Amino acid sequence: MKRLQLREKTLQEQSLINYTEVVLVKYRKQVTIVGGGIAGFHAAIAASRSGLKTLLIEKNSTIGGLTTLGLVNPFMKYWLDNQVLIKGIFQELIERLKRKGGVYFNTFDSELMKIEMMKMLKESEVEILFKTMVTEIIKEDNKIISLKAQSSNGEKVEIESDFFIDASGDGIVGYLSGNECFVGDETGKNQALTIMFTIAGVDFESVRSDVKNNPENFFAWVTPNMDVISVAGYFKELEEAKKEDPSISIDHFFFVQLPGKGRVTVNTMNISKDSIDNSELSRSMLEGTIMVEKIFNFAKGYVKGFENAYLEKIAPEIGIRESRRVKGRYVFTGEDVRTYKKFPDGVVKGCYGIDIHSNEKKIDKKEKGFIPKYDDYYEIPLRSLISESYTNLAIVGRCFSSDFEGQSAARIQPTCAGMGQAIGAGIYLAMSKNIELLKIHPNEIENQIQKISKL
Ligand SMILES: Cc1cc2nc3c(=O)[nH]c(=O)nc-3n(C[C@H](O)[C@H](O)[C@H](O)COP(=O)(O)OP(=O)(O)OC[C@H]3O[C@@H](n4cnc5c(N)ncnc54)[C@H](O)[C@@H]3O)c2cc1C
Repeated sequence: MKRLQLREKTLQEQSLINYTEVVLVKYRKQVTIVGGGIAGFHAAIAASRSGLKTLLIEKNSTIGGLTTLGLVNPFMKYWLDNQVLIKGIFQELIERLKRKGGVYFNTFDSELMKIEMMKMLKESEVEILFKTMVTEIIKEDNKIISLKAQSSNGEKVEIESDFFIDASGDGIVGYLSGNECFVGDETGKNQALTIMFTIAGVDFESVRSDVKNNPENFFAWVTPNMDVISVAGYFKELEEAKKEDPSISIDHFFFVQLPGKGRVTVNTMNISKDSIDNSELSRSMLEGTIMVEKIFNFAKGYVKGFENAYLEKIAPEIGIRESRRVKGRYVFTGEDVRTYKKFPDGVVKGCYGIDIHSNEKKIDKKEKGFIPKYDDYYEIPLRSLISESYTNLAIVGRCFSSDFEGQSAARIQPTCAGMGQAIGAGIYLAMSKNIELLKIHPNEIENQIQKISKL
């Protein structure tokens, strides 16, 4: 490790520190994970608990990615009537949060989530570098040798590792290493972006009675008897509000109850912009944050139950549903979702359907009347979590190898968590047996996840 030299201070410079060299810190690890969202978190815990020397690099200063900084909620459906599809470390995390009062059915508190995730990382002895962004990948033939990164205070880092996991959401390791990547639908268009925000002081009884009395004003899946208040619609109110302010750009208002009193998270704006063009993305953050105020004012002024509500929090991280997807040994498809496909190397089960957000189409009658069904599950094969170009690069979370439709179903948080824990456990098994990751059987991965989960 090469540390900086401190130049001797002169009298005039007593309050200044001068550096003569840029810091370069070198690491040697068994597994390095880029991205501390729900996928990277699970990968890190699984690898480290299995006994591998594990490093997690995250560009933000806290853990969780969209799960915490994006204010995304709830955990979309990851269970069928007769079975829970994602278990292991994910269930452990939920149980821990429950004990802290941080869970209400399938919704969670994002601040308590941060704390529990941090505690689990500490207990599992994962080394973490926050505020550190990957900048370069060093590769040789079909292997990644090391990656270079830089902290926001200028420290340079070089990490050699036996295995790398791209959990960056944006497929940054795949992209920088030259692995083929996909972006958007067949025309290159991404799913819409959303800035989520939370509102408190909502009167849920008033919301329920409104849903009961005006069912035609809501999507067909909204019911007054729901366990968790989850409401989308308010078509009439929006029509009224738009007469006064035509710049209100949403076509429905959607919120979900959070743990605590009268708290909801709002997932309603669709900003249709490019999710990897940084200048467009920055403009979306600006426009989206300004739009939050309009939507909040609409809710307070027009929606029953929101009369005394107040704006609690705006997500510091813009919600990117889909950006780059890194090509792996298999490309998971929308057809796999529709046909509930099972694979011999299936390592994650999911049941959430294809879900594409765009603000270019208007909500039609069919969409308003749609009620999702959860009869069966599909599987995600290990091959779609392993890079096409590099034998020691895995990809987990929303940037895994998939087509536009396949990603739109598998991107939900529980499925991303499932990918992370499967890969963390799988890499340990491959390294301990000294065989290719691809050769590890799904049952072995499942057993290893169970072994390291503290339930
Ligand atoms: C608006 C919106 C609503 C959603 N609603 C739901 C919902 O209701 N239920 C549900 O289950 N799912 C929902 N999803 C999907 C789900 O939230 C995400 O797909 C999932 O959380 C992605 O997890 P991830 O770990 O793959 O990626 P992310 O959470 O994006 O994490 C990636 C991490 O990598 C870090 N990173 C990126 N680049 C670098 C770099 N160069 N160097 C270092 N670190 C880097 C990022 O800072 C981030 O922390 C929603 C998504 C959006 C956007």
